[in-house]
Amino acid sequence: MARVALVTGGSRGIGEAISKALKAEGYEVAATYAGNDEKAAKFTEETGIKTYKWNVGDYAASKAGIEQVEADLGPIDVVVANAGITRDAAFHKMTPEMWNEVIATNLTGVFNTVHPCWPGMRERGFGRIIVISSINGQKGQAGQVNYAATKAGDLGIIKSLAQEGARKGITANAVCPGYIGTEMVRAIPEKVLNEVIIPQIPTGRLGEPEEIARCVTFLASDDAGFINGSTISANGAQFFS
Ligand code: NDP
Repeated sequence: MARVALVTGGSRGIGEAISKALKAEGYEVAATYAGNDEKAAKFTEETGIKTYKWNVGDYAASKAGIEQVEADLGPIDVVVANAGITRDAAFHKMTPEMWNEVIATNLTGVFNTVHPCWPGMRERGFGRIIVISSINGQKGQAGQVNYAATKAGDLGIIKSLAQEGARKGITANAVCPGYIGTEMVRAIPEKVLNEVIIPQIPTGRLGEPEEIARCVTFLASDDAGFINGSTISANGAQFFS
């Protein structure tokens, strides 16, 4: 029987590429989104992948949504916690609302997504947790104190889950993308992209969403069973100390 994968924020950007790649590998895929109904409908029309709408920052909504996915597709074997937002500002201009919104989506959202799936994975003796963190969680980033805190927090989550889940056949890993050419990054003015951002990337280009998706399909596979609590950095050789 096909394994079932849940991808939060799975209908556009990096998540869209992950949903499509998992489907191509033979998984039954459920892709969630927050509010962009038009994009989600287009995505389902193109791919045949069913979408589900809930706010990952809301535990009750996540639990109910996950129960619906499991009723439709069967028990969830693979969780890709990908949904994320930015609310950037210099720290002295960052408001408590900007802090709380990013924490709720990017950090509490990971708890809310993984926690309802965890007991079933333990019972069945198999699970794959993959969190999409960021290079900025590894190195920090001016203007992103909130975002970097959540993405660094993701790494603490997967290292701890890896230790708790290891004997139950569950792995928990992270992928840390650098700059990937999604709508979010392509919206940066071309001059800034070409003169500031791309010169920082030794590979000389943005990453493609499909390059992150391939990391995810590998981490989800049986071949990756001994990789647990690890981080794959996919950033075009942007080294940092
Ligand atoms: P996008 O902005 O293109 O897509 C974000 C997705 O997350 C959308 O599907 C969106 O839904 C969903 N989402 C946002 N907030 C919520 C919420 N509260 N509840 C449920 N779903 C939500 O992002 P990217 O594809 O660029 O990024 C994906 C992940 O990769 C994020 O975690 C991001 O931090 C990380 N990342 C991205 C990098 C990049 O260069 N792009 C670099 C490093 C990390 P909807 O469509 O309805 O708005």
